[in-house]
Amino acid sequence: MTASTRAAFTADDYRARMARAVRDAEAAGLAGLLVAPGPDLVWLTGYAPPAATERLTLLVLVPGRDPALVVPTLEAPDAARATGAPAITLRDWTDGKDPYAATAALLAASGRFGVSDSTWSLHLLGLQRALPESSYAALSDALPMLRAVKDAAELELMAAAGAAADAAFEEIRAVPFGGRRESEVAADLAALLRRHGHEQVDFTIVASGPNGANPHHEAGDRVIERGDMVVLDFGGLRHGYGSDTSRTVHVGDPTDEERRVHDLVRAAQQAGYEAVRPGVACQEVDRAARAVIDAAGYGARFIHRTGHGIGVTTHEPPYMIEGEEQPLVPGMCFSVEPGVYLPGRFGVRIEDIVTVTEDGGRRLNDTTRELVVVD
Ligand code: ZN
Ligand code: ZN
Ligand code: ZN
Repeated sequence: MTASTRAAFTADDYRARMARAVRDAEAAGLAGLLVAPGPDLVWLTGYAPPAATERLTLLVLVPGRDPALVVPTLEAPDAARATGAPAITLRDWTDGKDPYAATAALLAASGRFGVSDSTWSLHLLGLQRALPESSYAALSDALPMLRAVKDAAELELMAAAGAAADAAFEEIRAVPFGGRRESEVAADLAALLRRHGHEQVDFTIVASGPNGANPHHEAGDRVIERGDMVVLDFGGLRHGYGSDTSRTVHVGDPTDEERRVHDLVRAAQQAGYEAVRPGVACQEVDRAARAVIDAAGYGARFIHRTGHGIGVTTHEPPYMIEGEEQPLVPGMCFSVEPGVYLPGRFGVRIEDIVTVTEDGGRRLNDTTRELVVVD
């Protein structure tokens, strides 16, 4: 995999994504979609302005009309260079003009619109003022599966991101843990992800000893000691697509109980993975992993859902959770990451990204799931 995969997508790819988004919006009873800078805009157009600002930038997708991008005049040249730009009409506006009125002119006055999750309230309130009869739904609520099924080029990028995270793990397991602060190991992990091609590091959790019992512990000043279990959970974006993997290592020889709990989580992770196949509801992946932990008497210590979708962001729908009846579809990518957390003592989590194939699932992380002993 080389940097040339950055150009994996063409204007036609973006045209097709925008067309499908409009069809999905219509099918969901929406009058259109409004997409501000963020992951949805990148996925739909290839346009990634450096940051959302108080100046309105908004992609307007409505049936029967070419995609339009409302954009500040000073940013229009950058927008025109986006890969998807040939499929989009730019509607630039200059300072002093009302961009909400300009946007409203493109929309049905009493329509209900899907709005990207990261749209600033400043802009949504401005639109509501311009279109008092309109109403809105969050895009991830209205069209949760819009980005869920990856095409072949996206899957290649997902696999490459997973392989890069695996390479980072193979290097971090060789460094000394005992006697160093969690934050130092976390900094090493971040550097390794970048060295293996990540342009963005989203998290590098290093949770040692009792800190491992807190799934949200990031990394702190605690000095890692011999005898500690250490939960490592790290990921980010490589060429625009996400990685996210967890392994739990032990500093020196583990106790029988530590081995037993680790084996249990490994069996649960395997069960979750084996439940993956087309047509199965997301909740069945959660149930399969949870049943293993329940049967061993640790059910109350598995305190989060089994997984989440991943793509141009590291956390997104679909969620592997009880109550989620969305069937799995080939090309979906999500984590399978059961854990057991023993307050005041230690935690164990094992996480792979899995993609749905025609007849099962394929792991995009494949470092050993055995308990690794580190120094
Ligand atoms: Zn120990
Ligand atoms: Zn993770
Ligand atoms: Zn995860």
